[in-house]
Amino acid sequence: MEQAIRVAVLGAAGRMGKEVLKALTPAEGFEIIAAVDRVSVGVDARELVGPTGPAVLIQESLGDEPLDAIVDFSHYTVAVANARKAASLGGSSIIGCTGLSPTDFGDLEAIALETGVPIMVVPNFAIGAVLMMKFAEMAAKWIPNVEIIELHHDRKEDAPSGTAMRTAEMIAEARQRVPVIPVHQTEKVEGALGGKVQGVPVHSVRLPGLLAHQQVLFGGPGETLTIRHDSLDRAGFMEGVKLCVRSVKSLNGLVVGMDKILF
Ligand code: NAD
Repeated sequence: MEQAIRVAVLGAAGRMGKEVLKALTPAEGFEIIAAVDRVSVGVDARELVGPTGPAVLIQESLGDEPLDAIVDFSHYTVAVANARKAASLGGSSIIGCTGLSPTDFGDLEAIALETGVPIMVVPNFAIGAVLMMKFAEMAAKWIPNVEIIELHHDRKEDAPSGTAMRTAEMIAEARQRVPVIPVHQTEKVEGALGGKVQGVPVHSVRLPGLLAHQQVLFGGPGETLTIRHDSLDRAGFMEGVKLCVRSVKSLNGLVVGMDKILF
C-alpha cells in the first residue's frame, strides 16, 4: 500500500480548515499529523468536526515533525512564515488564504527556489471556478469589454476576492486590445464603477446568506455573455484541495492557481 501523504492543516479551527480536517481522510490516502490554530488550542479536532475527524489536538504552531504538505487557511499575514517553516520540514505549502501582497508572492517564490520545495497559492479550489476563469480567459480574446462581479459572505475580510483578482489578470493577459470607453464616465458615488484590476472593473458584493460567487460579464455589439460560478457549500472546495495535496510535489517553484494542474 502507498504511504499516506502527511499533512498539517493551518487555520484548522476556521470554516475552511474544519472542512479540510473532514475531507483529508485516511481512506483517501491522507494522514493529518497536525492541526494548527490560534484558537481552540488543546481541543481534540474531533470535537470540532465530529468523530470521523483526525485524532489530533489543535496546536498553536507547527512543531518539528517532518511532513509532506501544509494546507494553509489561516491568515495571509502569516502565510509566508508558515511556508518557510513548512519548507524547513520538507513540506510543500498549499496556500488557500487570500489577500497576499506582491511582496508576499516574491517571498514565496524565493523560499520555493531556495529550498527546492514547491509552493502553491490557490485563489480558488473549486474546480468549477477554475473552469469559469479559463472560459473567461477564452472569451476575453474575442470580447474585450468585460466587468467582474464577485459576491461573498459578509465576513470575508479582503476585497476584491483572490479569484476576481486572478480572473482580471488572466483577462488582461488574454485580451488583444483594451476597450475604448465611448464617453467620459463620472462617478457620482465613489466606487460606483468598481475598482480596476489591470484595467478590468471589479465590483465586490458582501452579504449574509452568500458563500462565494462570481459573474464575468462580457459585452459586444448586440450581444452579452455571462459566465457565472456559485460555490454553494465549502465542501465544494475539497476536491481541489485533495488534487493539490496529491500533485504539489511534482511542481517546481511557486505555482499560482489550480489551472497549472488542470490544463
Ligand atoms: P476563518 O476566519 O473561519 O478561519 C481562519 C482561521 O485561521 C481561524 O480559526 C483563525 O483563528 C485562524 N488564524 C488566523 N490567524 C492565525 C494565525 N496567525 N495563526 C494561526 N491561526 C490563525 O476563515 P475562512 O472562511 O476559513 O477563510 C480562511 C482564508 O481562506 C481566508 O483568507 C479566505 O479568504 C480564504 N478562502 C480561500 C478559498 C479558496 O478556495 N482559496 C475558499 C474560501 C476561503
